[in-house]
Amino acid sequence: AKGVGNNMFRCYDSYMDENAHRRFVMENGMRRALENGDFLLYYQPKVNLVTGEITAMEALVRWDHAELGIIAPSDFIPLAEETGLIIPLGEWVLRQACAQNKWWQDQGHFRLRVAVNLSGYQLQQAEFLEVVRRALADTGLDPQYLELEITETVVMQNPDFTVRLLDQLCEMGIHISIDDFGTGYSSLSHLKRFSVNTLKMDKSFVKGVAENGPDAAIATAIISMGRSLNLSVIAEGVETEGQLEFLKKTECDEVQGFLFSKPIPPEEVLRFMKGRGAH
Ligand code: C2E
Ligand code: CA
Ligand code: CA
Ligand code: CA
Repeated sequence: AKGVGNNMFRCYDSYMDENAHRRFVMENGMRRALENGDFLLYYQPKVNLVTGEITAMEALVRWDHAELGIIAPSDFIPLAEETGLIIPLGEWVLRQACAQNKWWQDQGHFRLRVAVNLSGYQLQQAEFLEVVRRALADTGLDPQYLELEITETVVMQNPDFTVRLLDQLCEMGIHISIDDFGTGYSSLSHLKRFSVNTLKMDKSFVKGVAENGPDAAIATAIISMGRSLNLSVIAEGVETEGQLEFLKKTECDEVQGFLFSKPIPPEEVLRFMKGRGAH
């Protein structure tokens, strides 16, 4: 009996060690990557369904790892949040996205919004508004060309706090979108308190809209909710012509997804926009 107990304990212990070791390696790797400039931003366009125009480019972070190649955010954002590294990483993303957009404008390429994803931890920072102000001031980007995407879950976690924060961001002239909309618990009465411009319908509903089942019903409800609150609605994760047809028919305002473009590095953004007739 003694042997079994020891073994189990050992097993558990080495699992803990391994896990802790992996986290240690990842955390240090992220720290070094921030210092070395090994993070980069890919961009995915948002398309107006009526005019066909590109309205924004969403910045999506990647880690360009020397040995592992390009690492997706789902593999490091959670640990960045646990370790607090999301604060410097998030600030880098914000500044980089603003600087990139300002550069596109200064080169005379195009004028559109750059959309930045925010973690709830960033919003809770006392100096968050100051960080945003500084990013805009230092890069010279006009606030109307910055969009912030905040998930519905984060917005609803502490509604009283978010109402005030969103008011201030809105006063600065920044565009606000509620990301992954439909996965949280917003009601119409909640929503009308928030200064937001756009509801971004979660891709889990967009997936099945062409099948005329529950996804189509939910999507229709979200689009009409947006209309009654005077908010624009964008659908993310649009992959098929069938989904696009449904979204046009239900008068969704904008779309984003692999059907138009996957997230691409900045050099390809220029090519993509030129291909659509921009300069
Ligand atoms: P998200 O903000 O909901 O972004 C949408 C994700 O769906 C992106 O994955 C995008 O590449 C992917 N996607 C776009 N079009 C399609 C499509 O047609 N079909 C499918 N199946 N997927 C599509 P990605 O880039 O791996 O990012 C995953 C998540 O990581 C993001 O979800 C966001 O929550 C987070 N994230 C990315 N960049 C940042 C960042 O800079 N800061 C923070 N805090 N989070 C970020
Ligand atoms: Ca997003
Ligand atoms: Ca989303
Ligand atoms: Ca998501």
